[in-house]
Amino acid sequence: MNEDAIQGLRPERVWHYFKEISAIPRGSKNEKAVLEYIKKTAAAMGLKVKQDKVGNVVVSKPASPGKENSTTVVLQVHTDMVCEKNRDVQHDFLKDGIKFHREGNYIKAEGTTLGSDDGIGVASLLSLLEDKSLVHGPIEGLFTIDEETGLTGANHIEPGFITGKIMMNLDSEEEGVLYIGCAGGLDTTITIPVKRKAVTGKNSVLNVMIRGLKGGHSGVDIHLGRANAIKLMTRTLLAIDAKTKIKMRLVSIEGGSKHNAIPREAEAVIVVPVADEAKVQNAAAECEQMFRNAFASTDPDVKVLVEKGKKAKPAFDDKSKAAVLDALNAFPHGVIRMSSDIPDLVETSTNLAVVKTSAAGVTVVTSQRSSIESEKEMIAAHVASVGKLAGGKIKPSDGYPGWQPNVNSAVLGKGKEVYRNLYGKEPEVKAIHAGLECGIINDRVGGGVDTISFGPTIIGPHSPDERVAVDSVEKFYKYLTEIVKSVA
Ligand SMILES: [Zn+2]
Repeated sequence: MNEDAIQGLRPERVWHYFKEISAIPRGSKNEKAVLEYIKKTAAAMGLKVKQDKVGNVVVSKPASPGKENSTTVVLQVHTDMVCEKNRDVQHDFLKDGIKFHREGNYIKAEGTTLGSDDGIGVASLLSLLEDKSLVHGPIEGLFTIDEETGLTGANHIEPGFITGKIMMNLDSEEEGVLYIGCAGGLDTTITIPVKRKAVTGKNSVLNVMIRGLKGGHSGVDIHLGRANAIKLMTRTLLAIDAKTKIKMRLVSIEGGSKHNAIPREAEAVIVVPVADEAKVQNAAAECEQMFRNAFASTDPDVKVLVEKGKKAKPAFDDKSKAAVLDALNAFPHGVIRMSSDIPDLVETSTNLAVVKTSAAGVTVVTSQRSSIESEKEMIAAHVASVGKLAGGKIKPSDGYPGWQPNVNSAVLGKGKEVYRNLYGKEPEVKAIHAGLECGIINDRVGGGVDTISFGPTIIGPHSPDERVAVDSVEKFYKYLTEIVKSVA
């Protein structure tokens, strides 16, 4: 399947390496095997390889004859990928390679994330390191770990691990766009303690489910207004609670899976008097209609399902139930403010990402982003306040700094010129509402690294809809080799 999908695609070596790394499971925090592959492959090319304590790898490629005095260029990619799949798909991200196929101009996986983010970057970098025909200055190929779930690799780069003063990050997702800035972010985790009380009387245990949402990346897709499964679940449970005159008992609520993905699915186990079962079905059907109307163009396939559940465990007492549902209802989600300076840039946002029920209570993971440091703190404090009002314990993560745009950057000027010469038009210059590693790496090595980011066109990253545009990979790679040549 994979072999057929890439048959005839160019650049042949880029797709070859993409096929190779797709066969190696490489979810975040599970990059060991793919790093071994990269080290082995680079060593076989005769290149110098070093690795730091956390796993980041640098492959050094000496300059072409006569170009030794050029500025060293860091080409940077991340080796991990987001592991998301549709519920009906059998796939073990720790064992199975990614299967993909071709759909017209796209390569797409079989109900899982594809890993073109940032697998095309990794494959392109390997291909470029291999290419002996290219004329270039000294190159440091930087392969980082765990970009997607904590930016761990970037956060642990030691000063001196890279020496280049120009950096090109190959991890953005729109061909023809040069990125010059990104948002900083942090996660805020809230645990609301719950008390449980036995369920008595003639009751039905029911599983309520939200299905069929699109989800997407909590940074780059947050402005699209897609439905959040945890929000829809909360609204459904509140509707059921109202219909059953608050006789509904809540046993558990679960939804979402990753801090940086908009939740696509959610489940709750509830207990209601047997006599009220029909009311629950009615409330669910009404909610489904309402959601289909409200999200007709973003999430037309939304479903609210109710099924018979298994034996009831003790359920939340009424106070705990109210605290949890009110908090979930009150947590903000989505765009908080658009930038007044850069057109179409989301300045500040928050994602209500994950909800889980455990012995400790109900844990809610949320994720905040902003290109302005103070506004990142503001929205995190807003979320924390809601959690505190519900009696929750708040745990903020350390977070990471953004990457401040520099419109006067020399490499940006060069990048624009090369694009114009190659494709006869101006590239767009943008900032991104997501956490690229550029800002952190720059910080870690003491600053002063002139940086741009670009990549092929990837649609639906971080979701099972992820697909990469075949023609954009060719254009992106051509551009990459030209700009590397031109800065030498
Ligand atoms: Zn990425």
